[in-house]
Amino acid sequence: MTYYSLTNPDNTATFSEAVIRGLAPDRGLYFPKNIERLSDDFLQNLAEKSHVEIGVEVMRQFVGDTIPIAQLEKIVADTLCFDFPLVSLNDNMASLELFHGPTMAFKDVGGRFMARSIGYFNEQRTEKVTVLVATSGDTGGAVASGFLGIEGTEVIILYPKGKVSDIQELQLTTNGNNIKAVEVDGVFDDCQEMVKTAFLDKDLNAVYNLTSANSINVARWLPQSFYFFIAYQQLLKQGFDGKLVISVPSGNFGNICAGIVANKLGLPIHHFVASTNVNDAVPRYLQTKQYTPLPSKQTISNAMDVGNPSNFIRIQSLFNNSFDALKEHFSSYAFDDKETRVALKELHDNYGYVADPHGAVGYLGLKKYMGENPDTYGIFLETAHPIKFRDSVEETLGITLDIPAQIQHILDKHPEKTSLKGYDAFKAYLLERA
Ligand SMILES: *Cc1c(COP(=O)(O)O)cnc(C)c1O
Repeated sequence: MTYYSLTNPDNTATFSEAVIRGLAPDRGLYFPKNIERLSDDFLQNLAEKSHVEIGVEVMRQFVGDTIPIAQLEKIVADTLCFDFPLVSLNDNMASLELFHGPTMAFKDVGGRFMARSIGYFNEQRTEKVTVLVATSGDTGGAVASGFLGIEGTEVIILYPKGKVSDIQELQLTTNGNNIKAVEVDGVFDDCQEMVKTAFLDKDLNAVYNLTSANSINVARWLPQSFYFFIAYQQLLKQGFDGKLVISVPSGNFGNICAGIVANKLGLPIHHFVASTNVNDAVPRYLQTKQYTPLPSKQTISNAMDVGNPSNFIRIQSLFNNSFDALKEHFSSYAFDDKETRVALKELHDNYGYVADPHGAVGYLGLKKYMGENPDTYGIFLETAHPIKFRDSVEETLGITLDIPAQIQHILDKHPEKTSLKGYDAFKAYLLERA
């Protein structure tokens, strides 16, 4: 498989090059040259396939010959080490729970696949790879947990001081081993800026082999197609043959973009709904045909506080840049925090279901689309465990959440972090430890 840059199609890369570089040298996003539909034999017998068989079949063409099949099987098996239950709410709606992994967010899938791919590529190289990642919460934890103990790699996480939840901070600071946490006196944008500057810094590049692990990396983006197949498999086992609509709570739009890839691979998904909070660049675009990103606004579904979603350009490419084709298969709606809290209550009161604020936004988008298209069956993705957004969930529902085992075991660990402010201090920190 060849990947090309969406900025300049002449800039191409193999899977391993695209993974190690993250972005193309022209700063464009890598995109697969062609996506081949999976065989009818595979699609018709999906119900009988194991998760590993599904994962290998989905990723085979994307990794090409950069990872041998036996190795790919190991990477997929190691990635899909937890369940993706489809929880039925009523006769025509279900929640696909993506939060049963080590950090309880769907980003565990991409984080684990990417870490293991880089681990494999490193077996053929001698230099250590240093992953720099700026996080506003969930990404850092999933990347840290994915890379923990992976030979030949280290991860340095930058997060804004006092702006991640207590549980998220523990997930960033208690890993030890090859994971280091840096608390930055500033906001998320400062962290991101410091990472970007570091990538371009000659002094650092002379002593480090730096790479990024944010959601634009093809090794984080593409494996997210797995669970759309796993969801469909569960429906098939229940004898489903209806019109499937999937609503994805969206921020950077990588997750929903992976769903559209699953559809291209042959999975019969009738319609996609991208549900957002008030960071609504895409819903506005679908209404007005004008794409006008705005600075991000803070909400209770903060993993989706993205003003200018990076992956939207990939979605447009998947629809051959046709506005009409996009509109036919894809809707997008925005909801504010007040509506999100009402949805949390509604899910709890009507179905006894405790969602997190991101899942609640997904539910709202699904309900809106299905209200206008009642002949459909809907799934919304529940992208994080409610415990990760404990304060807003407990306050809205008036309940106390039990602490799951994945979280319990980090509560008594000792956090370790370096605190600093500004790029010069960050550079000095990196040079000192090089
Ligand atoms: C990252 C994240 C999202 C948004 O996913 P994108 O791929 O960026 O659209 C939604 N929910 C949660 C809990 C997340 O961590």
